[in-house]
Amino acid sequence: MKTYRIACIPGDGIGQEVVPAGQDVLQALAASQSNYRFEFTAFDWGGDYYRRHGVMMPADGLDQLRGQDAILFGSAGDPHIPDHITLWGLRLKICQGFDQYANVRPTRILPGIDAPLKRCGPGDLDWVIVRENSEGEYAGVGGRVHQGHAIEVATDVSMMTRAGVQRIMRFAFALARSRPRKLLTVVTKSNAQRHAMVMWDEIALEVAHEFADVRWDKELVDACTARMVNRPATLDTLVATNLHADILSDLAAALAGSLGIAPTGNIDPERRFPSMFEPIHGSAFDIMGQGLANPIGTFWSCVMLLEHIGEPAAAAMLMAAIEAVTADPALHTRDLGGNARTSDVTQAVCEHVTATAERRRAA
Ligand code: NAD
Ligand code: MN
Repeated sequence: MKTYRIACIPGDGIGQEVVPAGQDVLQALAASQSNYRFEFTAFDWGGDYYRRHGVMMPADGLDQLRGQDAILFGSAGDPHIPDHITLWGLRLKICQGFDQYANVRPTRILPGIDAPLKRCGPGDLDWVIVRENSEGEYAGVGGRVHQGHAIEVATDVSMMTRAGVQRIMRFAFALARSRPRKLLTVVTKSNAQRHAMVMWDEIALEVAHEFADVRWDKELVDACTARMVNRPATLDTLVATNLHADILSDLAAALAGSLGIAPTGNIDPERRFPSMFEPIHGSAFDIMGQGLANPIGTFWSCVMLLEHIGEPAAAAMLMAAIEAVTADPALHTRDLGGNARTSDVTQAVCEHVTATAERRRAA
C-alpha cells in the first residue's frame, strides 16, 4: 500500500475550518479503497503562532515540509496582524522557498450553481488561468525612504527574468496543449508597461514556435476582464503575470458563482519540492468560526492535489462527488444562497465517495 505524506497548514480564519474538512474528504477516499493511504502532519503556523513566537512559521519551516508529497493550505491573514506580514511570512515564504512558479487556477461553473453571467451557456466558461508565481510584481523588490517625512518615497519594482518568463510560458503552452481546445491567451499590458511586458510578449512569441499545434492570441489585461464577461467561450487557457492573474482569477471565481468554490495549485513542475494546494479565498473574517465557510474550494484543491501526486482515479471520484453535491441546492452554503453548513457539505461529499466505492465493489 502506498503512503502519501500530506502536510496540512490550516493557517488563519476559515482556513481552520476548510482544511480539516479537506482532510476528512481525503480520508474518506483512502478508506474507500486499499491501494493508498494518507499520513497527515499538521502545522499550527499562522496568526496565533505569530502572537506566540513573533514569526508566522519557524526558521526551519521549509525543512520540515521538504519531505512531504504535497501541502494542503488554508489561508494566511489575521484581523490583528498587517496583511503583508501574514502573506509574506507564510504563504509567499513557501511558494517562493519551494520555487512553486506555476500557480494553476481552473474555473468552471459547477452543476447547480447560479452564476452571474446570464448569457453564458453550459460549458461556455471552462478556463484554466496560469499565474506566474515567483517574480513580477510580487518579487518583493522595493523600499521606503524618508519614512513619515514629507519627502517620503516608496517603490514596488516588478522584476521579470527571461528564464522566469520562459518557464511559465512553456508551462502554459504545454497545459493548453493538454486540453481539448489547445487554445492559449497570453495576457499582457505591453502598451503601458513598455519594458518587462514587452519582453513578456517577445518570449511568448518565441515559445509559441515550440508549440505549433497550440492556437494562441494576446489580450491586454483590461480588455481581458471585459472578454471574460462578454465572450467567455472564446477563452480556454490563460497565462498572466503574478498581479494580473491574481486579479483575473478572483474575477473568474466570482463569474463561476463564488470565491468559496475556486481551487488553486502552487506547482513546482520540476518536482524538486512539494507543491501546495489551497482554495483561492482568504481568511474570510466576516464568517470565520461560524461553520458557514464553503469547503468546495478546498475539496477541488484536493482534486488537484490527487492529480499531482498521481492518483487520477481518486481525483475523478472526488470531482464527481463535488459535482453531485453542488447540484443539490439543499447543500449550498450561504455564499451560494443556501443554508447548508460546512459540516453538511463535508459529510455529503464523504458519503458520496463512500457510496460510489461500495457500488463499484458490489458491481
Ligand atoms: P476573503 O477571500 O477572505 O473574503 C472575501 C469575501 O468572500 C468575504 O465576504 C468572505 O466571507 C467571502 N468568502 C471567501 N471565502 C469563502 C468561503 N469559503 N465560503 C463562503 N464565503 C467566502 O478575502 P479578503 O476579505 O480580501 O481577505 C481576508 C484576509 O485573508 C486578509 O488578511 C487577506 O490578506 C487574506 N487572504 C489570504 C489569502 C491566502 O492566504 N491565499 C488569499 C486571499 C486573502
Ligand atoms: Mn488573490
